[in-house]
Formats: sequence, structure tokens, C-alpha cells
Amino acid sequence: MTAATGPIEDDLPAVFSAVESEVRSYCRGWPTILATAKDSWVTDTEGRRYLDFFAGAGALNYGHNNDQLKSALLDYLSGDGIVHSLDIATTAKQNFLETFDRLILKPRGLDYKVQFPGPTGTNSVEAALKLARKVTSRESIISFTNAFHGMTLGSLSVTGNSMKRAGAGIPLVHATPMPYDNYFGGVTEDFHWFERVLDDSGSGLNRPAAVIVETVQGEGGLNVARLEWLQELANLCRKRDILLIVDDVQMGCGRTGEFFSFEAAGIVPDIVTLSKSISGYGLPMALTLFRPDLDVWAPGEHNGTFRGHNPAFVTATKALELYWEKPTFAAETAEKGLLLRAGLDEIAAAYDGVSARGRGMAQGLMFTDADLAADVCRSAFERGALMETSGPSDEVVKLLPPLTTSRSDLEAGLQILAESVAATV
Ligand code: PMP
Repeated sequence: MTAATGPIEDDLPAVFSAVESEVRSYCRGWPTILATAKDSWVTDTEGRRYLDFFAGAGALNYGHNNDQLKSALLDYLSGDGIVHSLDIATTAKQNFLETFDRLILKPRGLDYKVQFPGPTGTNSVEAALKLARKVTSRESIISFTNAFHGMTLGSLSVTGNSMKRAGAGIPLVHATPMPYDNYFGGVTEDFHWFERVLDDSGSGLNRPAAVIVETVQGEGGLNVARLEWLQELANLCRKRDILLIVDDVQMGCGRTGEFFSFEAAGIVPDIVTLSKSISGYGLPMALTLFRPDLDVWAPGEHNGTFRGHNPAFVTATKALELYWEKPTFAAETAEKGLLLRAGLDEIAAAYDGVSARGRGMAQGLMFTDADLAADVCRSAFERGALMETSGPSDEVVKLLPPLTTSRSDLEAGLQILAESVAATV
């Protein structure tokens, strides 16, 4: 969740430390002032270029200032298209809903209603949790170890990270963590504990409304759930009448290859959260998707001023048309993911205590000595690449390049990473 940990001396203008809160984090690892960006590259005010293997934490799957998305946006703005509209019907929203239905839902046989819950990932998660509780009249939610779902109180209650949880300042209740796939290193049978406490009236577990899960835990350190594990989880939820929420905020929109990260497992969640790259341009936008029979909201029961950001609808529609009309983009992403993984495996093979992990274009290197990951990111920054750490101890260098990154730029990034590891370990 950070670009690098530990204090870094910087020579940024004093306004940042004097006026902006201490809560700022990414700028501490990347102490420079960014000015412009194009595709997979960003440029700072000194004219230094950085290869972006961070992509707005997964919000820029189609790169920075993608030409075709930008021209759709500029056309819309120069035609005085509606910018702000709460949830009033607009042409931009109509186009988005029609395109999302035609290119994403229908071809996958997914029968979901679309809610615009507010512009961020955590808005999408809050809506999902509220809806699950309303539908089932139950309070508790099952989450997983090392999960990350956002910073507002509901999302934080199902998030694992103790530092982030402590920031709540109040007890985070009505959520119970269960072991994510491979938590016991394959020693304990999957779901043994979960099934046992569900069925045991003496366990102390309230009957849950829902389970919320990431197919690959991005902030949690690129922990990849096996497809069989996801299938078993979906089966268990169905058998026990528990709603399954897949949080696809970071791994959706093609990050793992297919549009939704759960497609590979062949499961159909009851509720899905999407944000980050759904607008395609880095504009704030989020969706909560759910089965039509779960649509028990009363009009206005879940509200918000920024649920209809039309510029985001415009770029989102264009991105779907450009990249999701044909299966080629997903296939190319899968192929680029393999390229990335092969490069990481090669680096990892040369060192003890370093291993590769991830799925699709969410890949990373884990270091047994956690401090090394931040040092590697710092070294990569000095060599002209943006890479962040993730994991409970920030022990993983996480690579999320834009999916549109060329093969030669992927290789250039791997080269920078290899040099950074060599200089650090
Ligand atoms: N869910 C997941 C899986 C995420 O990775 C994130 C953000 N890293 C969120 C929810 C929260 O999204 P946001 O920061 O936009 O609130």
C-alpha cells in the first residue's frame, strides 16, 4: 500500500509538508513532482521520465491519457455534455449502461442490476455490505485474513491490516475473519474451520449475511486464491444460503486477463464490486452489481452527490468499446502476464528468500526479509520506474503495469527491477 516505507528525505517545496496532512504516503516513496503522463510513462517537473508499473494502484489499466479515451472525453466536454447529475438520467449514463450490458454482462450470461454507489472502491463495498445485510436481515460478514476492502468503517471492518483498522478509533464489529487460501501453507484442509464454526451452535459465530472475498489479494501481498478454492467457497455459500461478494475493485476490469477476475473459476457471485479502472481514464467511478432479486433498495435509501459523474461514463463506455468488444485484449493481457511472470521467476531463481507470485498482470516479488522490498522500490525509483510494496509487512514488490504496456516496456521494467534487486539484496 506504499511506494516505500520509512522516512525519506526529500527536497519537495515546503508547501507539501507545511500544508498537506501527514497522512500522505505515496509521495514519501516517490519524492518528486509529477507533471505529465502518457500511456505507461510519467514525467516530472525536471523532465525525468518514469516507467509506471503502479498504474494508479490499478486505476489506469489502459494507461495515462489514452488518446482515444481522451478525445471522447474532450468531445463530450466541448459539446457542453452534462457533467454532474446525481442519478438523473443522462445520455452519457444511458450509453454506459447499454454498452456495459451489451459487451460485459450479456456475453457472460450475467444477470446483474447496476448500482452507482459513489465514486470510489470503498463506496462500492459499503453498498454491497449494506445490501447483503438488508436482504438477509443478518448482521455479520465473513472476511478473509489479509483482505483489503477500503478505508470507511464498513469496509475497514472486513479489512485485515491492523494499522489501518486501528485508524477507525472505534470497535470494528459484525465481521469475522477466516483463513484465506493457503493461510496454513496447505496443511489444513480448506474450509475445515469455516464449515465447523458455521455448523456448531456453540462456536459463537452469528449466521453471516455474506462472505466478501478478493480472488487475488492486491494490498494483502498478491495472495492468489486457487480456482478450486474459489469454487469451493462459492459452493459453501450457496449450500448455507450466504451471499457471496467478490470485491473486484483492484483485480477487475481485465487485470487478471478476463474482465472479471472470477470468470476463470467459473463462479457467479451474488454481488460484485468494481471501481479503479472502470472509468478507464483514472476518473472516479464505481459500480456495485447484484442479482436482480437482491435489488431490495427503496428509492434513495443509499444516496450520494457524486454517483453520476458523466465524464467517467463517457470514458468508461469508450474503454469498453475499444478493449472489450473482441476477446483479443484479454488474450493479450494473459500473454503479457506470462511474460512478466517469466521475468520475475528468472530474477527470483537467482536469490534465496525471493519468490514470484501473482496472476495475470498482477505480479510481484516476495522477500523473506521484508525490508528489502521497500529498498528495491526505492532503487527502482532512482532507476526510473514506479513500483509499490504490498503485504502485511510490505514484503512484496507489486507490479501492476497498465495492461496496454508494450512488450518492450514490460521488458524494460523487468530489467530495472532485476538491477534494483541486484543492487539491494
Ligand atoms: N477493494 C479493494 C480490493 C481494493 O484494492 C481497494 C483499494 N486499494 C478498495 C476496495 C478501496 O478502493 P478505494 O481506495 O477507491 O476506496
